[in-house]
Amino acid sequence: MRRRSPAAVVCAGAILLAGCAGAAGEHTGADGRGQSPAHASSDVRGPDRGGRDDLPPVVDHVRTRDRVVFLTYDDGAERDPGFVTLVRERRLPVSMFLTDSVVGPGYGHFARLRAVGASIQNHTLDHPALRGLPYAGQRAEICGQQHKLRSRFGIRPRLFRPPYGTYDTTTLRAAADCGITAVVLWRASANAEGELTYTRGRPGLRPGDIVSVPSGETASPTLTERTERLLREIERRGLRVGRLEDYL
Ligand SMILES: [Zn+2]
Repeated sequence: MRRRSPAAVVCAGAILLAGCAGAAGEHTGADGRGQSPAHASSDVRGPDRGGRDDLPPVVDHVRTRDRVVFLTYDDGAERDPGFVTLVRERRLPVSMFLTDSVVGPGYGHFARLRAVGASIQNHTLDHPALRGLPYAGQRAEICGQQHKLRSRFGIRPRLFRPPYGTYDTTTLRAAADCGITAVVLWRASANAEGELTYTRGRPGLRPGDIVSVPSGETASPTLTERTERLLREIERRGLRVGRLEDYL
């Protein structure tokens, strides 16, 4: 089933749940290679919702019976032409969370990716750690990138990933005010070799998992090679790559 339903999102409207709050702590994926995850614990609290009930859900996993996982890529530092070919040939509906200051003049590469089926989403203008920043600053980072992506691609992204996975209630307010409908973290993160680590729960990919694929720090293995390795793992578990927006 690919329809959105209110029950589709594990953490929707429930960011005080330990599982979700844990994933929102120290970042371990795209932006924090090598750090230990801040596992869920009873003393980790999600931000209070400030009396607003229109704030976007924070998700690291989607509840679904479909045998899908979601591949998400951050920043936009790697512009591997082979990756465009891979996305096209394998028809991979991947999500690219772009930061303007990282992409710089490289938006053409992402236009090509979009043309072959990738989606483009928001990862701020300049990649600050948002938690604790004033509303105006957080809003400028999120809405500013919405405007950039709109002018570059004519789109209005609905999904936002906070840099380092760190956020607070102000982030959720600002995101909502910029048109964001879901804040996307991850349960699994690929390391430099394309092997997976998990922010919470038992290791092993499960249907509905959101996977973060960080930019590589070295030229080898390439993004294409790391993704191919992930695809082998995904297929080995009888899973396929789903389009995240169809589930959020
Ligand atoms: Zn990032």
